[in-house]
Amino acid sequence: MNINQSLAQRDLAVLWHPCTQMHDHETLPMIPIKKGRGVWLEDFEGNRYLDAVSSWWVNLFGHANSHINAALKDQLDHLEHVIFAGFTHESAIKLAEKLVEVTPIGLTRCFYADNGSAAVEVALKMSFHYWRNQGRPAKTKFITLENSYHGETLGALAVGNVPLYKETYAPLLMDVITVPGPDCYHREVGESWAEYSIRRFELMEQTLQQHADTVSAVIIEPLVQCAGSMRMYDAVYLKLLREACDKYQVHLIADEVAVGFGRTGTLFACEQAAITPDFMCLSKGLTGGYLPLSAVMTTDVMYQAFYDDYVKLSAFLHSHSYTGNALACRAGVATLEIFQQQGIIEKNRSLIQTMTKVAARFHDHPHVAEVRQTGMILAIEMVKNKATREPYPWQERRGIKVYQYALSKGVLLRPLGNVVYFMPPYIITEEELILLAEVAWQGIQHAVKA
Ligand code: PMP
Repeated sequence: MNINQSLAQRDLAVLWHPCTQMHDHETLPMIPIKKGRGVWLEDFEGNRYLDAVSSWWVNLFGHANSHINAALKDQLDHLEHVIFAGFTHESAIKLAEKLVEVTPIGLTRCFYADNGSAAVEVALKMSFHYWRNQGRPAKTKFITLENSYHGETLGALAVGNVPLYKETYAPLLMDVITVPGPDCYHREVGESWAEYSIRRFELMEQTLQQHADTVSAVIIEPLVQCAGSMRMYDAVYLKLLREACDKYQVHLIADEVAVGFGRTGTLFACEQAAITPDFMCLSKGLTGGYLPLSAVMTTDVMYQAFYDDYVKLSAFLHSHSYTGNALACRAGVATLEIFQQQGIIEKNRSLIQTMTKVAARFHDHPHVAEVRQTGMILAIEMVKNKATREPYPWQERRGIKVYQYALSKGVLLRPLGNVVYFMPPYIITEEELILLAEVAWQGIQHAVKA
């Protein structure tokens, strides 16, 4: 038995992995990783895997990035963590200052939590609590979009809409108002993304008009519904939504957990609609993919609504033990330094074009219904019938076949159902993108034949 095999065996004896039917590992090998360098992961037998999904969309500048490594080593010698109530530290302050600087104008307050779902919970609670503090306790409902995803904790799951994750737990979840979304995969032939997004907004407008008195906030993934099969829409939807939320006095929560930090081509997706949400949830890329941390950015209006004498009991008492963890915050500071010092958003423009170029051939593939791209996110929708867009039955698990094939060729692609996507670290080279596209092509060929 080699080291890979013995670690896999020990793992399967004691561990329970996320988002996994563990029974699959009777046939799928568990892959123990020895080290990561740049876009490459390496196992104990020297096999290398190109991390085309940025390890669940978190990694931005490669594994073992020298700038983030150095910052963390320095932080480790000074402070690993300190209680974040009554105490503070420089890395938390610096990161908050930088986030206020780079997020849309008007977001002047930063509340830390430790993962994306927790950030969503914070935003939902803050929104409801704001209205309560304002003497409007009837605003208890949330509006969400069809096909949305906001995390796995019960509140976050309730405002999500992907049946695979939600249905089992439905009896445990709060009621939400779900509005048909602007997912442009469903637009008519000849209809533009913007036209479809505007048309679909009418349903949101009607819902807001009808429920304004009882709705606290609308929560949305700006531009790309990532876990919902990388479905995309036009920024005009966000612009209209901001206007309508103002009109009906409903908060707008922008969940940029997945799309933030450059994924859509701008540092934040909301920039493309030139809007400022009332709450912006950030995580994943926040630490460059190093450590769990999240932040909810909000406005002074929100902050002031909680600021009063203690005896009024209007404070936001939500807390997590690891709030503002010093190592995580320092990784966040180092990550934003890389963006600023290396002009990453500018540099990514040519990478985005290269992604478009390498994926061009997929448009004509007989089992590809759509190739869509928003910035650094590119998705290829595999279907059974290109003309009718009839999907492959999910039970056939075509995506897993692509996954397995790609692994055998040294690429980590992890399709969402029948959607193969690229969401690579920003240090990927043109040659690596060409390799990635070739392996994806062969993987799809393999999967559609099987
Ligand atoms: N919101 C969005 C938009 C996400 O994509 C995710 C995770 N994929 C989350 C929230 C939840 O983040 P976490 O997994 O860190 O809890």
